[in-house]
This record gives sequence, structure tokens and C-alpha cells, in this order.
Amino acid sequence: MGATAGHFPEAATATTAQAVVDLGAIAHNARVLAQAAGTPWMAVVKADAYGHGILPVATTCLRAGATWLGVAQLAEALHLRALLDADGVARPAGDVPTPLTPRTLTWITPVLTAAEAAAPGSPLRQALDAELDLSVSTLSQLEAIAAAAQAQGQAARIHLKVDTGMSRAGAVAQDLAPLAVAARQAQDAGLVQVVGLWSHLSRADELTSGSTEEHLRRFQDGERVLAEAGLRPQFRHLAATGGLLWHPAARLDLVRLGIGLYGLSPNPATATSAELGLRPAMRLESRLLQVKQIPAGQAVSYGGTWTASTDRWVGLVPVGYADGIPRAAASLGPVWVAGQRTQVIGKVCMDQFVIDLGPVDANTEPPVPPVPPAQAGDRVILWGDPNALPGVPTADDWATACGTINYEIVTRLGVRVPRSYAPGATKEEQV
Ligand SMILES: *Cc1c(COP(=O)(O)O)cnc(C)c1O
Repeated sequence: MGATAGHFPEAATATTAQAVVDLGAIAHNARVLAQAAGTPWMAVVKADAYGHGILPVATTCLRAGATWLGVAQLAEALHLRALLDADGVARPAGDVPTPLTPRTLTWITPVLTAAEAAAPGSPLRQALDAELDLSVSTLSQLEAIAAAAQAQGQAARIHLKVDTGMSRAGAVAQDLAPLAVAARQAQDAGLVQVVGLWSHLSRADELTSGSTEEHLRRFQDGERVLAEAGLRPQFRHLAATGGLLWHPAARLDLVRLGIGLYGLSPNPATATSAELGLRPAMRLESRLLQVKQIPAGQAVSYGGTWTASTDRWVGLVPVGYADGIPRAAASLGPVWVAGQRTQVIGKVCMDQFVIDLGPVDANTEPPVPPVPPAQAGDRVILWGDPNALPGVPTADDWATACGTINYEIVTRLGVRVPRSYAPGATKEEQV
């Protein structure tokens, strides 16, 4: 197990909490999902691989067969390319990406004027330099990319994005035809290569909404519009984890996998992680800093929102909302300590929260000093994999407690929490 850069490396030795990421679980999840997909797949590693650490996750996924990497922002893609270069992962060559020479797609294409895009060192020229694939939803994005390509003397690889019903990025039906014609002209001029047509599903985590079928119809309309402009892109892609799992028709040429790789379900109400055969890869743990008794009637934390009903043992956990623990977890967030489930009591502070350790048993005969149920230094697990360690809460439990989704629980984990890596830890090692 080793801490990695990107967070506060020195914190690994003076740590108050750590996220232990099981790369063996990620490789397992990749195999399960890739087998279900039966198509090439992209490892979506945006937002520092959903909080798990971009380089270890990306290289694990490449070893597990990913031929594409996906990130949202251009800055993330450039950062990832630099890490891969330093790690010796080859740059893409030719039209068929492989795990050794993966393609990287980034989909938040910055808004630049043609002059800004053509300027030396512009973000889009850096993107060309890094051999990234770029998403294009609008004519102005296309113009900026073409200007950068002209200045760079290198054709840009682009994926045209059609809006199939999410109403987020992408060209709506009436805008796609002029975009496709302009892209064809830029391709004929040697400035771009239209390698992809793509979109994103808005309700793929639901089985029977009818939404995904509508997305697919609009996607096929988009294919026809491109064909009329003489464009037949090699990579048509629409599905993320939910689409892959629950809407096989959406798999097309490539699937973009995020949450499932991390062992979490896109929608636990549709199927849980365990039902999908996935293993949650992140365990967030800390250590009790202090254990003490408080008397019945004593309030806990800011605002005194929780009051002890009896004489009570409480424990102090040194992570807080600055580390990504949601304040919405007040008096709800589940934790596991000393072999038991308990929970946050009172408000979550910036750097710490308090947990309940149960009533003080004062009615022993003969009277003996009460024994605390846990001690300073005991490990506290906020979330992990209950199959590896029975009883531990999951990111899904935290999501339910906080009124959010598992994606947000893991992704919001802060930079003060060092990530360390367990290469396929066994059950014994994890206890
Ligand atoms: C985040 C994202 C994905 C991955 O989605 P998951 O539900 O995590 O699998 C795929 N495509 C796009 C465009 C995304 O933004």
C-alpha cells in the first residue's frame, strides 16, 4: 500500500483519515462490465477518477482492457496526458486505439475565438499536441478547433455531439445539419477528422421510462443527418454504465464507463452493486481521536441539535465537511467502529464530527468503573465494501442518509484525504 501524489503526500504519515482504494476491485468491476458490454470501452476518469485517483485508476483500467479514457475538462485531459507520458503509456497511433495506445476524449470544449484558439500555446493547440479527441456541439467550437488545427498544421479528431434529449451539451436537430455540413467542409480542408458521433442518456438508470428509446431514435436521426453530409464516423457512442447495464441497444460502438468501475450502481433502486456483481473500490477510514462520557441532557456539536438521552459514550472522528463529509449527514451518517454500526450525532463540523458510542452502563453490581466500548486510536470506517468487511456502511448508505447519490459521496472527497492503494487486498488484509 502506498500513498500517491496529487493530494497532500505528507499527510499519509500524519493522517487523520485515508481513502483506501482497492485496485483489484476496479479491475474486477472492469472485467464484469466489459464482459457484459461486448464492445470496446472507455474508462471515465473525470474528477480525479470520481475521487479515487486518476493515474492508478487509469492504468488499472488500461491493463483491464480499456482502449479509451474519458474526462470532462480539457485541463483534466492535459493533466492525464502528462501523467501517462511520464508513466510510459504510449500516445495513440492510428485509428484503432489499444490499451497500450489509448485515445482520450474530453467533452467540455472551451469557448475561444478563432484568434484565441490559433494563438501559440492556446488550450486547443495544447489539446492537439496531446493528441486528444474533442467533442463539438456548436459551430463556434468547430471554428475554434479548425483555427487551432490550421495554426498547428495538424487535423483535430472530433466527435460531433447530438442532443438526444438531455438538453445539456449537443446540437439539437435543427442545428445538427449545418454543423455536420461545416464539419464535412473542415474535414475536406484537412483541419478536422470526424471520428465520432455521440450523446448522453438522461434516464438510463430507469428500466421502463421510454426515455432511452427516444434518445436512440434521435441518435439514429443524427446518424442520417451526418450521412447526408457525407460523414460516417467510426465511433458511435451513447451509453454510460446505466445504458450498458439496462439498455443493450444503446451500446453501439463504444461504452463510457464511470460509476460501475468504482463498484457502485448507477441506481441502487434498479439494482444494487452486489446484485450487479460489483465491488465498491473505496474504503474511507479514520481513527477515533478521543472517547469520553457525557451526561444525560448534554447537547453535542454546534447548535446543540442532538442531546444525550442517557449518560453516553461519545467518540470524536477527525474528518469534516472540508474533507467532503456532507453536512447533511448530521445525526444520520453511518459509521462502523469496534465491530459495530453507529452514527454521527449533532452537526458535522469543518474538520471533525462526533459519533454515538452507546449508553454508559452504570448499574453494575458491585459497582465497577464503566468500560468504554471503543478507544482513541480505534479505526472508524465511514464507507467501504460490506462483502469484504461485514457490517460496514456503503457509499449508498451515506447517499441515502444525505439525500444525494453515491457519485457525489465519493467524488466530493477532499484533497486533505490521502488516497492509498491496495492491489487486490484480500478479506484478511482488509480487516
Ligand atoms: C460522467 C459521464 C459518463 C460516465 O457515467 P457513469 O454513469 O458514471 O458511468 C459517461 N459519459 C459522460 C458524458 C459523462 O459525463
